[in-house]
Amino acid sequence: MKYSIFSLLRNSLNHHQGWQLAWRSPDPKPRYDVLIVGGGGHGLATAYYLAKECGIRSVAVLEKGWLGGGNTGRNTTIVRSNYLWDESAALYDHAVDLWHGLSQELNYNVMYSPRGLLHLAHSVHDMQEISRRGNSNHLNGIDAEFLDPRQVKEMVPFINLNCRYPVMGALLQRRGGTARHDAVAWGYARAADEMGVDIIQNCEVTGFRIDNGTVRGVETSRGFIGANKVGCVAAGHSSVLAGMAGLRLPLESFPLQALVSEPVKPVIDCVVMSNGVHAYISQSDKGELVIGASSDDYNSYTQRGGFNVIEDTIGAIVELYPIFSRMRILRQWGGVVDVTVDRSPLISRTSVRNLFFNCGWGTGGFKATPASGRVFAHSIAGEEMHSIAAPFSIDRFHSGALVDEGAAAAVAH
Ligand SMILES: Cc1cc2nc3c(=O)[nH]c(=O)nc-3n(C[C@H](O)[C@H](O)[C@H](O)COP(=O)(O)OP(=O)(O)OC[C@H]3O[C@@H](n4cnc5c(N)ncnc54)[C@H](O)[C@@H]3O)c2cc1C
Repeated sequence: MKYSIFSLLRNSLNHHQGWQLAWRSPDPKPRYDVLIVGGGGHGLATAYYLAKECGIRSVAVLEKGWLGGGNTGRNTTIVRSNYLWDESAALYDHAVDLWHGLSQELNYNVMYSPRGLLHLAHSVHDMQEISRRGNSNHLNGIDAEFLDPRQVKEMVPFINLNCRYPVMGALLQRRGGTARHDAVAWGYARAADEMGVDIIQNCEVTGFRIDNGTVRGVETSRGFIGANKVGCVAAGHSSVLAGMAGLRLPLESFPLQALVSEPVKPVIDCVVMSNGVHAYISQSDKGELVIGASSDDYNSYTQRGGFNVIEDTIGAIVELYPIFSRMRILRQWGGVVDVTVDRSPLISRTSVRNLFFNCGWGTGGFKATPASGRVFAHSIAGEEMHSIAAPFSIDRFHSGALVDEGAAAAVAH
């Protein structure tokens, strides 16, 4: 069913009894051309582009819980592409290009809102980092503007420029902003399902069947499912899955937290991030302040995170924006993020033939969802990795050709 003003009118006359389910819940078939493990945004986007652009419709997405229940539904929805290196620029800016038309393409409102995104600089080092990155963005055709403190104040009138770490300037990407995270998962799921992709929730992958160095399928909580190719997109649990195939990935898993306040009237119309004090803020359409915190200092698979991180984050937010000091926090949560040493993703073949991994997005993969899915789908379908994906191969940890985005990624996405 196409979502439109007419379908809305028609269904409202019918007391909204006629809406179809957004996607089916089929039982798994014995075999598929491609299995995608992980029903987050990246996995669902991969399935969608496999069916849409690569002509492979015998595809199933296997999700151990519910769609978007991992980091896709837990992130703070920041979208931007102002990374340092050419390889990252190609990847993340491809995503921003796709974000622009995504609601139309999926016939599902993903609420992409390019409201402008500021990276604050609090020290000489920060100023050097944003000027290096901003200049590199210009060379890659990515919009980047340098703001002085007066211009920052014009955009965010209530910011406290003279706090403990004074605001010395900022890097602005006007095309940066936010999108509705779970709508992205649901939109891709619905569109993939329409093309025949089987989306199978409550189906945990517990092992791989590997024969002669080639993957033949996966063992799951619902039995064995055969496949010609398997793509794993399991974010914080990628190392666990890789271990089942006898592989060791260069990843560490950490809890990362976020929180939202009670809803208030519109007060901040852009995203403001500060790597220096480890906090960033935007306002949701419901009016909640969406606040991103840093990751815990230790490895863990708990989807919670330490209370000290919340305290530090709120301290930083209140110092930067004293007007928020009396707001109440409505809820807090955490997700498990998969972090590489160069803070860039892994989109790669493995030493097991026809087994692929797309992971290592760490604290900042939501923004890349459309591009990640698209280049991963083409890499799985084709003989070669997609040219945008190729630099993010696992081989870089042997060759040393790292794509170091430590400063651009930092804690703030
Ligand atoms: C608090 C927080 C804030 C963030 N903020 C931002 C942000 O503002 N901007 C940004 O760009 N990024 C952000 N991120 C990062 C972003 O959320 C992730 O990089 C991105 O969502 C990863 O998407 P995914 O589809 O790969 O993973 P997920 O959405 O986590 O999907 C992976 C899925 O795999 C499933 N799975 C795992 N193991 C198995 C198994 N054995 N069998 C079957 N299924 C399995 C999981 O249940 C999960 O649903 C944030 C993350 C967190 C936690």
